[in-house]
Amino acid sequence: EEVINRIAAGEVIQRPANALKELIENSLDPKATNIQLMVKNGGLKLLQIQDNGTGIRKEDFEIVCERFTTSKLREFEDLHKISTYGFRGEALASISHIAHLTITSKTKHDICAYQASFVDSKLQGTPKPVAGNQGTIITVEDLFYNMTVRKKALRSPAEEYQKISEVVSKYAIHNSTVGFALKKSGDNNDIRTPPESNAVENIRIIYGNTIARELIEFSLESTPFKFKVHGYMTNVNYSTKKLQFLLFINHRLVDCQSLKKCVDHVYSTYLPKNMHPFVYLSLELDPGDIDINVHPTKHEVHFFKRRTDYRKYHNCSRDKIVGFKQ
Ligand code: ADP
Ligand code: MG
Repeated sequence: EEVINRIAAGEVIQRPANALKELIENSLDPKATNIQLMVKNGGLKLLQIQDNGTGIRKEDFEIVCERFTTSKLREFEDLHKISTYGFRGEALASISHIAHLTITSKTKHDICAYQASFVDSKLQGTPKPVAGNQGTIITVEDLFYNMTVRKKALRSPAEEYQKISEVVSKYAIHNSTVGFALKKSGDNNDIRTPPESNAVENIRIIYGNTIARELIEFSLESTPFKFKVHGYMTNVNYSTKKLQFLLFINHRLVDCQSLKKCVDHVYSTYLPKNMHPFVYLSLELDPGDIDINVHPTKHEVHFFKRRTDYRKYHNCSRDKIVGFKQ
């Protein structure tokens, strides 16, 4: 049975960047305003995240890592109006099956923090009191230590770190009121955004001034279709070879090949060849119109019904875009 759990866990967590994405979302859910990340060896030796959110109560340590245990979903119907990132209670459980997991946390009601480690979803011993500030520190060590094949299939630590850094960059831009810091152990911060910032400022910090000063803001809202689009894009060539596409749907970082192709198509129609822009797109749709449950990593989103309606907007002309400004 343990092997089955491990395989299932490997589906949810395919590489260090997936684990980190889950952990970042777990920190955003309890309203952290500061998130600090530390990584060793591309995340394989260490992934650590510290937040200043509401914390985990000592009595909840017993169950936080049990599969399908979540504090976020109350009724099945809630699935259609999920406002938190987490809802399946799978991330911590999965991580505990394929890594050494330690949680340190303090709520505002406790006088000290508590720390415990977890193996295969189970709390080891009882949480021990330690010093600490309000919030949570999740430490993930030796990811895939018991999955040698998976470990071998990964890219180099440098490339895995690159993927981690992309995830952090995107979340920092989309959640610009939260301060993010990412570093490799021993090094200085690679990414550092202040709390109470804004998307443009964070794009400047992370992707540089060349892109930031070319940004064009756009927003589009439709009450009948119940959707909102907001974002920034550039018209100029961006130094990397391909389209830099940051896509959030209902605040989830997702991949959507069809939408990406569509954006690429628009650019290749209106711009000279080989112009690869930077596009940051945030879509808010009626949660009933999309399925975020299609893949264990929650990384892909499917659109339900109304597809044709959205397609009308694929060809929308510039003057339909409200708040278009340079
Ligand atoms: P989910 O996010 O789907 O609920 P997870 O396995 O990611 O499931 O987390 C399990 C539970 O652990 C969460 O529902 C939450 O109660 C708690 N938790 C995890 N990370 C944090 C954190 N950084 N701060 C506070 N609570 C947390
Ligand atoms: Mg979660």
